[in-house]
Amino acid sequence: MNSNKELQVGGLTFVPFITEDMISARVAELAAEIEKEYEGSNPLYVVILNGSFMFASDFLRQLSGAVDTQFVRLASYNNTESTGKVRQIIGLADTEIEGREIVVIEDIVDTGTTMHYLVPDLFNKGAESVELCSLLFKPDKLQFTDATPKYAGFVIPNKFVLGYGLDYNGAGRNLKEIYKLKS
Ligand code: 5GP
Repeated sequence: MNSNKELQVGGLTFVPFITEDMISARVAELAAEIEKEYEGSNPLYVVILNGSFMFASDFLRQLSGAVDTQFVRLASYNNTESTGKVRQIIGLADTEIEGREIVVIEDIVDTGTTMHYLVPDLFNKGAESVELCSLLFKPDKLQFTDATPKYAGFVIPNKFVLGYGLDYNGAGRNLKEIYKLKS
């Protein structure tokens, strides 16, 4: 596929935004930074499905040794806008979280609603610490400062993005690059 090409998905036009090379370089940097930060400890990586499956897969493979991983499925999005309400579809047991240092692996922090809901829930379940690692961060749309990711791959403008795990109504998660909605 020609990476300069526009892409039609569900009647919308998307244009290339972040290349595969840029993503893999940044994912490797994030993994190295977090691995260094947690040297000598054993954090639990909590992966937020569905959108972060591809990022998490690449990120986790950059870590050395056998790390602990759990998956959560949360949903707050409908079409291209957040509904503002978070539903937990696959959750975590309290026992998995008790006393653990948690690193949340997220695809994108937009309004912050999802993380504003999840972080207190992890502390309620007994987490010792919780830090957020998000591949993408849209600060212009952030409504909850406690959802600011400590580790952010790319800080991006307020545009709907697609690809590398992120979908538009279920389509486009497979794309190796990240696209943005054409203005
Ligand atoms: P927040 O709760 O921060 O508003 O949004 C978090 C979730 O909304 C993300 O995990 C992601 O699934 C979805 N989301 C937010 N912005 C975008 C976007 O630009 N594109 C896509 N495909 N999903 C988004």
